Amino acid sequence: MSQLPALWRNYINGQWHTGQSGNLSVDNPANLSKVADITLASPEDVDSAVAAARACHNSAVLPAMRPVERGRMVRKMGDYLLENCDEIATVLTLETGKPLDEAKGEIQGAARYFEYYANQAETLDGRAIPLGKDYIDYTVYEPFGVTAHIVPWNFPIEMIARSVAPALVTGNTCVIKTPELTPLACTYIAKAAEFSGFPAGAVNILCGYGHEAGAALSNHPDIDQMVFTGSVQTGTLIAEAAARNLVPCVLELGGKSAAIICEDADLDSVVESVRWGIFYNAGQVCSALSRIIVHQDIHDELLQRLTHLAENLSVGSHDENPDMGSLVSMDQQRRVADFCQQAQQAGAIATTGGAPLDRPGAFFQPTVFSQVTANMAIATEEVFGPVLTVQSFADDTAAIQLANSTEYSLAGGVFSNDLQRIMRLSQQLKAGQVYVNEWYAGGVETPFGGTGKSGYGREKGREGLMNYVHSKNVAIRLK
Ligand code: NAD
Repeated sequence: MSQLPALWRNYINGQWHTGQSGNLSVDNPANLSKVADITLASPEDVDSAVAAARACHNSAVLPAMRPVERGRMVRKMGDYLLENCDEIATVLTLETGKPLDEAKGEIQGAARYFEYYANQAETLDGRAIPLGKDYIDYTVYEPFGVTAHIVPWNFPIEMIARSVAPALVTGNTCVIKTPELTPLACTYIAKAAEFSGFPAGAVNILCGYGHEAGAALSNHPDIDQMVFTGSVQTGTLIAEAAARNLVPCVLELGGKSAAIICEDADLDSVVESVRWGIFYNAGQVCSALSRIIVHQDIHDELLQRLTHLAENLSVGSHDENPDMGSLVSMDQQRRVADFCQQAQQAGAIATTGGAPLDRPGAFFQPTVFSQVTANMAIATEEVFGPVLTVQSFADDTAAIQLANSTEYSLAGGVFSNDLQRIMRLSQQLKAGQVYVNEWYAGGVETPFGGTGKSGYGREKGREGLMNYVHSKNVAIRLK
């Protein structure tokens, strides 16, 4: 790959634009060197982006198309990402610290959203409602108009694809606020939109501070719909802003998800699920498998196997081809270290890990905690790092009580070969999605989201498409 540009810019109304709030240094968390600078959007830049999206919407060029044409353009965005996967993945690796294979996986995952929603383009049709012989009545789905997308740093390009693909395919325009820590790869979404023939103003991408550009976007009086993915704290501010402007809002927030491991579970599957469930992306995943709740009869055996798994994962920078990369920043490393220290002070035992790696960079040891009690912060709060807790249960009532004991309710899991028990536990788990015998089972096709502190609304699947349209009823009186 040729040398990266030293300064990256925002994309407004089909033009690359220098932000009015100065520059931000984007650093590689694996070696703490600068990757590049990016210009920051000011509230005035946000106004310009929203105005461009509004003008594009008012031109009606997207809603006027046959859905198949919008679908083809959306699919092309995914094709663009795949064709440039190596280049984009390199940028993503440098700014996030994730291994190159994981970065490529993220680009392929983003492309999959464009493919899936492109396929959905022609499936959205209204219905005729019988009102007797003197009326013809039908419904149509219309786009909301200008949609706002505020994105976190852990899977920046995939999170954009998740909401922008269905928004565009249904004829909306988009203003995207990318995360401060990892904004560079996100700019390829603008290139993809340009490559695919979207008109100026359909896709606008801004990097900016949350409290400045993010707040200006979420409070903007001229947006019609909003999707926020990020922390509970910011999600609360977003919900308030959406309420003030009376716009629909989807909130995809954090999680503290648990898997219940029954005594008849296939432990090979459990170990494989933990490998990806908590150590993929260094545990910086909203639906990470951060808690194991295991039947007391197999607690010791499973704990020993999970400790062995974590001890044998290599951690390093992308050129070392590691099993796990660095955390996203030194701040994140400190946060994870604080949680671990506090857990140890409270009596939890780190059977492996529990501390940063002894080398420069935001690396953290894959960590497993036992002797965890339900009231410890490590068992209730989202750590967002490679830290697993293991607790045991004696009967299913106790297992469900533990699993449902946090304020979150994003994902849950059951590992067993007893169908009756799987069904009963799945019914009782407080979660937006339940994974049985494989953590992260599902895909772009299956709805995703939470309740409680994990937010509201659903993305992915058919549900994700319906976020971006409202129905209009037309009732015609015949003479
Ligand atoms: P964050 O809330 O700090 O930031 C998310 C985004 O909001 C960033 O773009 C940030 O700039 C912006 N922002 C910050 N303050 C704002 C404000 N006042 N107004 C408007 N925007 C503002 O979250 P983060 O640390 O980037 O991401 C980690 C969190 O995201 C974790 O809790 C994780 O669980 C969650 N997450 C959830 C999902 C999901 O699908 N449920 C997916 C990925 C991440």
